[in-house]
Amino acid sequence: MAISSPFSIVSAGNAASRLHAVHTRLRAACAQAGRPDNAVGLLCVSKTQPAAAIREFHQLGERHFGENYLQEALDKMAELPDLRPTLTWHLIGPLQSNKTRLAAEAFDWVHSVDRLKIAQRLSEQRPPTKVPLQVCLQVNVSGESSKSGVPPQELPALAHAVAALPRLKLRGLMSIPAPAEGFEAQRAPHRQLRALFDRLNAEGLALDTLSMGMSADLEAAVVEGATWVRVGTALFGERPQKA
Ligand SMILES: *Cc1c(COP(=O)(O)O)cnc(C)c1O
Repeated sequence: MAISSPFSIVSAGNAASRLHAVHTRLRAACAQAGRPDNAVGLLCVSKTQPAAAIREFHQLGERHFGENYLQEALDKMAELPDLRPTLTWHLIGPLQSNKTRLAAEAFDWVHSVDRLKIAQRLSEQRPPTKVPLQVCLQVNVSGESSKSGVPPQELPALAHAVAALPRLKLRGLMSIPAPAEGFEAQRAPHRQLRALFDRLNAEGLALDTLSMGMSADLEAAVVEGATWVRVGTALFGERPQKA
């Protein structure tokens, strides 16, 4: 059975039915991979969506939201103060060094760390009143469409340096592979990230997080060991164009 999705990744209907469809896909992929249903977390990617859409998915039971643009995220956080105690904010977009303080103060997770300088600033700027910032290193696996991400050959040195920073908790790796057609082609870059993760753990790190897989390829990512899938379009529908 091919569980990759040739059909449209956005099912018809309202938020509740789209969310149900994504959870159904995740459960099927976990079953195929022989992994428990709770092995994979759903990170709702709410970039360009209004605060009201986050509130709607929060009411439907979702607790983890991913944002790409710092100022946009801060604006939405300011609109949703009542959700703060029960909502975990993840930064998944590129971070400039002059914006690290805001990120260190406002987010729970940053998935997109790809340079030591950024990690050092986040560690220095993480408020002492908060738990350490949870971070993933973004890796530029082969065929990655974005220019962000540490090259695989530079990953071990970066990972060991970041793991030693006091106010960060290095959790794992993240990637954004180029879009690929077909289940096997989609699996290849996820398998590559998994191999890098296994190697770092064999070297003594204690990573537990693989942030990989999006609307179009979440099944392939789950089969290769994803622990977060980052899903936008399949939950919220096509994104409004950013002004
Ligand atoms: C937009 C985005 C996603 C979600 O992509 P969809 O294809 O809409 O599910 C996931 N991860 C990152 C880093 C993104 O920028």
